[in-house]
Amino acid sequence: MKRRDLLKGAAAIGGVVASAAPVVGLGAQRGAGPAQANQAGRRFRAFVRTNAGGSVQEVRMLPLRDNMVVIRTEATQCCYTIVNQALGTGVAGGAGGAVASRILGHGGVGIVDAVGPAVSRVRPGDRVLVTNTPNCGECYNCLRGRGDICQMNPSAGESLVPIGELADGTPVHQHNNTGGFAELMITFDWYCVPAQAAAPAAELAMLGCVGATGLGAVTTFVPVTFGESVVVMGAGPIGLSAVQGARIMGANPIICVEPIAERRELARKLGAHVVLDPNVEGDGLVAKIRGLLSGPPRRKLMGGRDTTPNSDSQGADFVVATVGADIVPPTVERGPDPTAIQPTLQAWEMTRAGGHLITLGLPRGNITLPAGAWSNRGRHHHAGQYGGVNAKSDLPRFISLIETGAFDAGSIVTATYPLEQTREAFQAVGDRTTVCAVVTFT
Ligand SMILES: [Zn+2]
Ligand SMILES: [Zn+2]
Repeated sequence: MKRRDLLKGAAAIGGVVASAAPVVGLGAQRGAGPAQANQAGRRFRAFVRTNAGGSVQEVRMLPLRDNMVVIRTEATQCCYTIVNQALGTGVAGGAGGAVASRILGHGGVGIVDAVGPAVSRVRPGDRVLVTNTPNCGECYNCLRGRGDICQMNPSAGESLVPIGELADGTPVHQHNNTGGFAELMITFDWYCVPAQAAAPAAELAMLGCVGATGLGAVTTFVPVTFGESVVVMGAGPIGLSAVQGARIMGANPIICVEPIAERRELARKLGAHVVLDPNVEGDGLVAKIRGLLSGPPRRKLMGGRDTTPNSDSQGADFVVATVGADIVPPTVERGPDPTAIQPTLQAWEMTRAGGHLITLGLPRGNITLPAGAWSNRGRHHHAGQYGGVNAKSDLPRFISLIETGAFDAGSIVTATYPLEQTREAFQAVGDRTTVCAVVTFT
């Protein structure tokens, strides 16, 4: 089938037609309701977290704000960072302040169904990615090339906006002002990136957060150098995306460190030349990696490295730390440190003097480093929320990598679930029995 036909097919599934008209709800099969300009009263199902836990409930839309977009969700990815929110094992919360009820999610992919009158970037009928992190293009950070820390994010002080209410009148907000685990995402246009691709929705959805984080970290944020070494700590969806990004950039060798055997095999399949088990290597992991990367050539004046055993000149050119603290205890192989502090420190140590450390995980606690080496040994530390990605410029490139097969998102999306099984999906993610679970609506 031709690409154009596939795109037409995607629009047909959505039950919408492309239109330049900026305000009208189009009466879709799902989330149907009064087809009035402001969308008020439209009903849709969503996985909502309240103080009582998480469950699928019906939400009634409030009037659509002028600068917001209504998107019929096709797929959304279960991010490990919100496992406790979804399972009800943590206090209901998140960025943007305390709210009584919150549709969970880190964005997703879908078809624009209606737009407010102030929206000009997207139109009904467009397939878009809703990113976990906004990219307004106009704030202080966006203007300096750091869309990953765009200040329109609730984590940068933006308030969560109520977009609906439950049957009892409780106002409903959305995680990060995007939601995702709902038939409709109602968000600001600065979260939307065109995704006019024929790729499966479940694969595109992982670019809204984890896929772009790992892929972007090594391709656009800190582009790794052809022929140089990359170590990826952790083979979750971010780590496996980073492994593929390193492969695409021509890194050599690519080493992946991961406690779960199944994930190590996946890392090998997706481009890692060497895989290591941190539970086997223990405190010797850094020395092991330095040894693997010590040469040849072994003479300094022939381009070689210091041959002193365990010298920090022998470490990796690039290290990507993706390990996060355990939110719930895994039911499969556990890493050596549930806080992820140890692998984070090891990542810093195994970065060669003058090399690059990219940190993407969420360790818990504080770290202590040797001050002299931290100050003088030339390691560059790059801290990236959303992998340092500038969504509007980077995601179209990542989407094309999925379309051409250069980036194998399908191997990372290991399970799909319907909305009703959102809780089960997050349980599998928390147990670490699946790599990347996606809830689909089509
Ligand atoms: Zn996420
Ligand atoms: Zn911004």
